[in-house]
Amino acid sequence: MAALPVEEVRSRVEADFDRIVNVLNKKIALQSISAKGITADHMKRSAEFVAEELSKVGVNAQVVQSHNPNGTPGAWEVIGSKIVDENAPTVLLYAHHDVQPVPDASAWNTDPFVGTVIDTRLYGRGSADDGGGIAIHSGALQALGDDLKVNIKVFVEGEEEMGSPSFIPFIEEHKDEFDSDVIIVADSGNWSAEIPSLTTSLRGNTDIDVHVKALHHPVHSGQYGGPILDANTLAAMLIASMYDEHGDLAVPGVASEDPIGGLQRDMDEATVRTDAGIVDSYRLAGTGSLAARLWTKPSVTVIGFDAHPVEGSFNVISPETTFRLSLRTAPNQRPEEAQEALAAFMVEHAPFGAEVWVDKLDNGMGWAMDPNAEATKDAMEAMEEAFGVAPVNKGEGGSIPFIPELQRIFPKAQVLVTGPEDPKANAHSPNESISLPSLKNNVITEALLLDKLAK
Ligand SMILES: [Zn+2]
Repeated sequence: MAALPVEEVRSRVEADFDRIVNVLNKKIALQSISAKGITADHMKRSAEFVAEELSKVGVNAQVVQSHNPNGTPGAWEVIGSKIVDENAPTVLLYAHHDVQPVPDASAWNTDPFVGTVIDTRLYGRGSADDGGGIAIHSGALQALGDDLKVNIKVFVEGEEEMGSPSFIPFIEEHKDEFDSDVIIVADSGNWSAEIPSLTTSLRGNTDIDVHVKALHHPVHSGQYGGPILDANTLAAMLIASMYDEHGDLAVPGVASEDPIGGLQRDMDEATVRTDAGIVDSYRLAGTGSLAARLWTKPSVTVIGFDAHPVEGSFNVISPETTFRLSLRTAPNQRPEEAQEALAAFMVEHAPFGAEVWVDKLDNGMGWAMDPNAEATKDAMEAMEEAFGVAPVNKGEGGSIPFIPELQRIFPKAQVLVTGPEDPKANAHSPNESISLPSLKNNVITEALLLDKLAK
């Protein structure tokens, strides 16, 4: 089975590109803001539009309503399939049709709901996140047409921007229909408009509340200060004990990983400093590549601390306090395991024998792609052929909760995280946009990838 030549695929996508951009323009005009009501009519219309567009490229698509875990009606979802050969591999294409709200249209340079091209970019809410994902799937299927040699399943979700409340029951209900060898999640993005990427990993997260108690009641700091440290100081000592002298987190049992699939290019420190708004004198904590520190090593943040406000404070030794730790975990570590290790460390390192106890809170699993899987290699090859440059893998320090859920429900499937965004896309912010040359190359990539996956 000869693979389609890249130039053939490119010319088909070129010929279809006006249609693809038009799909995006119509999608932007639909204002599919799930925050205005997941079950509302405007979301149903948005789902119907997507189903119609997918039907035009050969997918047997329909709109169905999901149910929340409590049984109430959920999102308007688009599901569908295009079966070409019972014995061929099956690929599930994921995107979401809902978009982020526009709280302040005056912060935009263009009408957020009218697709507007400026230079090489198309502006509009949902142009990238995730109208771009829908456009990529539509364009790739159109480019392959009757040359498609894999079976396609489609799931275009209607509530991703609301945290996918009915996602798990919906997927479990449709488990047999969605069963596939490869899942392409087109909801992330590239290193830049010119350099393609797979998203290789997501960190997990877990929270704990730590209680520190030294006294049964408050006492006067003049009378008892010295041998008795206040609970805030003891808590600060406990927090500091998690780090070594380089600022690396050093909690036994909390795993650390290297960037998944190797590191082709590190994050640029100057860009990170500017984007995060770091003061000039601050030296970045930890060792190793900046990418590893942001994507695959664990990190702890004190996200809450009960202490007396400065205003109205008085000379008293605080008897006890509570602080909340948010731990971002290495992609492959089970968050329960990291949580257990962190909780044990807190109790074992109680300064001066203070009473320390821990409440364990929520866990969210991370995710890592399999860098050695055939599908991963196919994706990397397709990217290089389409963009003309080698891909640069990137991780995510945060989480996309539905990806580990997909992986959990379909453990044998290779999940590939791609997408239309680049660092200028401003997803979730004013002036969201998509790079049109990059969109074209993303469509070509997905068409080439689907073709390669047939073997
Ligand atoms: Zn998205």
